[in-house]
Amino acid sequence: MIEQDVANTCAGCGIAIQTEDPKRPGYAPASALERKVVVCQRCYRIKHYNEVAPVSMDDDDFLRILHGIGATQSLVVMVVDIFDFQGSWLKGLPRFVGNNPILLVGNKVDLLPRNINLNRVRNWMQHEAKERGLRPEDVILISAQKGLHIDELLNRIGQLRKGRDVYIVGVTNVGKSTMINRILHDYGAAELEITTSPFPGTTLDKIEIPLEDGKSIFDTPGIINREQIGHMISPADLRKITPKSRINSKVYQLDPEQTLYLGGLARVDFVRGPRQPLVVYVENDLYIHRTKLEKADEVLEKHHGSLLVPPTGEDAAKSLPPFVKHTFKIKATGMTTDVFISGLGWVSFQGKQEAHVVVHAPKGVSVGMRKGLI
Ligand code: GDP
Repeated sequence: MIEQDVANTCAGCGIAIQTEDPKRPGYAPASALERKVVVCQRCYRIKHYNEVAPVSMDDDDFLRILHGIGATQSLVVMVVDIFDFQGSWLKGLPRFVGNNPILLVGNKVDLLPRNINLNRVRNWMQHEAKERGLRPEDVILISAQKGLHIDELLNRIGQLRKGRDVYIVGVTNVGKSTMINRILHDYGAAELEITTSPFPGTTLDKIEIPLEDGKSIFDTPGIINREQIGHMISPADLRKITPKSRINSKVYQLDPEQTLYLGGLARVDFVRGPRQPLVVYVENDLYIHRTKLEKADEVLEKHHGSLLVPPTGEDAAKSLPPFVKHTFKIKATGMTTDVFISGLGWVSFQGKQEAHVVVHAPKGVSVGMRKGLI
């Protein structure tokens, strides 16, 4: 349990508590202020009902926090969600971190297929980070939820921080809070390179975990990346597309002019190219519907929100932003290429043959092509 020494900040996420606007960050009903430990409504709901209630932090506020980090002497630990690497990437970080070293943490490694080579994933993350202007000192893969590789994380933090403070940054939903709780609960007294106190305080908008040498680990609030599909659907539907256990990839041998619907949230048209396997990495129970390209529009029209779910319900389907097209040409380079749909997963092409692909996804969702992760 996180204890507070500042009464007007949330013990869960560190945000300043306000009682006026339920849609803004830090809202708590006035009655909640009488409790010993005050948490904002969002944290309360997540904790007690496992319900994700998105709130947005002002981008300006967030930039102010990032700016502040640049002015410090610290180790910056940036957390990403390995299931949604692109969608969980914290944009703009290189501009703000100054000369501070960065440790890149890929969380949710428990979701990756069993036979995966983790060294390859780490190299892949280094490569992707470099493409975005960030040169991390190291990349570590963890599962905050399952408690995997937390020792390694703390040891690496201990080695890299060289007597400095540590700032943990990331967009919402990467599992930052789960990671912090893991650190607090399991590792307060462990014999590691770093020893944390199980009794953090909250500073203005950060959670502060004191370290033995008088320095601290600061957990900064996450910012919402609106390009993730999760922000366009209901919390119940979000739970349906969020993988709960290791992803079992599904292979579809597709002929040209065939389409795969990923629930009712995206569609992948294999427009042209020789018959080939498409490997789909999405939540294991997500319904995948295969149809002919020429029938695809009609199928959506008839079954959006009923057969093609999520979104669940006709109303939900109607309120989803309209689908827009993203066109990709996959070359026969012999290298695996992924087409990702942020928050939903990705489709992998072996690169043995050429493929023309069109992805339809709700407007605003980030869709793109990348070097194969697996
Ligand atoms: P935050 O917004 O970054 O603080 O993220 P949370 O800690 O609230 O986690 C967001 C969601 O990811 C929750 O549903 C967590 O249960 C889930 N989660 C966090 N860590 C892991 C992990 O290591 N593996 C998996 N599969 N899910 C995780």
